[in-house]
Amino acid sequence: MKLFKKKTDYSYYSSYNSKSRRVRVDRVVVAAIAGVVLFVAIVAFLNLNRIKLMVKGYSFSTANEIVASFDSGEEKEILSHDKMDHILNWAHESSKVSLFDEYEKYWSYHKKMKYSEVVEFVDSVFNNQVPQLKSMGYDEKTIWSLLKKDASKSDMQYLIDNHLTNEATKEYRKVKGYKLKNMLAYIEKYKEVHDYNYAVNIVNYPFIVSSNGDANVKYEISNPDSLLTLVKKGFYLPEDYEPKDLVVPNVSVAPDCENNKLRKAAAKAFEEMAKAAEKEDLHLVLNSGYRSYADQTKTYKEFETKYGGQYAAEYVAIPGGSEHQTGLGIDVTAQSVVEGKKLVFGDTEEYDWVIKHCSDYGFIIRFEEGTDNITGIAHEPWHVRYVGKAVAKEIIKNKWTFEEYCLYKNVIPSFKKD
Ligand SMILES: [Zn+2]
Repeated sequence: MKLFKKKTDYSYYSSYNSKSRRVRVDRVVVAAIAGVVLFVAIVAFLNLNRIKLMVKGYSFSTANEIVASFDSGEEKEILSHDKMDHILNWAHESSKVSLFDEYEKYWSYHKKMKYSEVVEFVDSVFNNQVPQLKSMGYDEKTIWSLLKKDASKSDMQYLIDNHLTNEATKEYRKVKGYKLKNMLAYIEKYKEVHDYNYAVNIVNYPFIVSSNGDANVKYEISNPDSLLTLVKKGFYLPEDYEPKDLVVPNVSVAPDCENNKLRKAAAKAFEEMAKAAEKEDLHLVLNSGYRSYADQTKTYKEFETKYGGQYAAEYVAIPGGSEHQTGLGIDVTAQSVVEGKKLVFGDTEEYDWVIKHCSDYGFIIRFEEGTDNITGIAHEPWHVRYVGKAVAKEIIKNKWTFEEYCLYKNVIPSFKKD
């Protein structure tokens, strides 16, 4: 009761003074709010870009440094770009804010470059060459794809100086391994062969056709497990390469054969081929399959001693350059040869049968008569190479050597970078 009374008293008192008191309070509140709003507005106005930079994701200190380094126009430009992770690095090296995105992008493809090198390269290319390239039909995306693939300033200048438009070069650029600086040579070659793959590959690797041979060329194959690895003089298998799926095929093996293993796919195909020949009373025999680098070295030296260097070079592959090391190359013979009834496989009925049917099992005669200017190896009727049925059929249909298949179909091995 007491309390109630007191409260009543209080409220009475309060209501009594309410009018003048409320006016006073309202004024104070309005003034305070106005002050705060004004203060915030001034702060925001003075630091708007700083705030926007922070909203974009830049840290407080980065935003401060940006505001300190650039004028408001440049800040605006920076704000129109996506957030850059290295903006202060670019800010230290360059004042060309309009190219900051390009620095950032180019660096993302070439992270080993110094920031100063990126700035120097991008400044030069984007100021001098990009406008010209654009006028030659190269759009932004294409130019970036060239830059991503390490196109140099001189590569770009080569395109410009030779008026090599986007239209003129685009088909060649679809071929893996093309080089901008070879473009004129590709175009010249294309006039002869009318095939983009062939034109690019034969210019890049002229020695694939052995008559263009260059004794000094040496590429080490980095994907030797491919069933379509082209191994020959110039394209070498690593010394320690041994296929992991070598097996001994279930076929007749020549008595003195020490190399009776093949890769699984080739072994299975050879078993099937020998079985099919058997049905026609023809007897295929495995004479030599997988040979290691060391085996090939031994064979080469033996031939050299017995028949001289020239003969060895013509008939035996240089170690690392033999298909036998892939486990996909097979020297075939016939029972009649093993028994001494026939002198060589090329004289047997089995050979005639193999020519007709080997592609049904995925094999090709690797060194056909009259192709040694391409293969670099004299006619070897006994040496077949497993490439799989589809490829074997295609090679036979087109009357190609395996080299030509690789050139036309762009099946070039990968190489260890030196
Ligand atoms: Zn052979």
